[in-house]
Amino acid sequence: MKTIGVLGGMSAESTALYYRELNRLVRERLGGLHSAELLIRSVDFAPIAALQAADKWDETGAILAEAARRLEAAGADLIVLATNTMHLNADAIRGGITVPFLHIGDATATALKAKGVTRPLLLATRFTMEKAFYKDRLIAAGLDPRVPDQAGRDRLQAIIYDELCQGVVRPESKAAALEMIARGRAGGADGVIFGCTEVGLLLSPDDVDLPVVDTTFVHCEAAVDVALG
Ligand code: GLU
Repeated sequence: MKTIGVLGGMSAESTALYYRELNRLVRERLGGLHSAELLIRSVDFAPIAALQAADKWDETGAILAEAARRLEAAGADLIVLATNTMHLNADAIRGGITVPFLHIGDATATALKAKGVTRPLLLATRFTMEKAFYKDRLIAAGLDPRVPDQAGRDRLQAIIYDELCQGVVRPESKAAALEMIARGRAGGADGVIFGCTEVGLLLSPDDVDLPVVDTTFVHCEAAVDVALG
């Protein structure tokens, strides 16, 4: 089994989901007492979030490239970055390593297509919903991603950073997210992307009457596929 390097802490809440899911998948596939070979590099999210808010993406890229380089030096055979947003720095991270880097957007596009979704509603941070790096990857894969309106995007940003990343789950926030999904569906969306690795803390696919792709879970599946060859 190959060793999966997880570049996490963004937030720690979702990195815990990666840890649980990677181990669950390996046990499911190999049985018994098997668990994943893992190295986790978990950063302090506060300075990263401050750099995001200041649009200093070169600086976050340098920090994450160095962290990925150290994960490889420590023995990681492949690397996953446990956040959608920070895939804005995917090229910088790839530039610092020689082992495979599994892009969360690719795992997501593959899963959407397998479910027959072509017009997914993307629920994510404002960076992921508004900048090109993520949507363009989905468009290049033949998809037509949609995002909530400005008020919805602002609300989601607050839910993610002020609540979910701090381990807070509020019923009124769940209701707000479900309302965004209902509007997206009325506007033609035929599926939903839990496009922030914490969204699964707020919503379950069972809450949604459209096909759902949870980026955390499909990213873990892609990593385990490679780790187990
Ligand atoms: N984990 C989140 C994501 O998947 C948001 C936190 C971050 O900005 O990294 O985008």
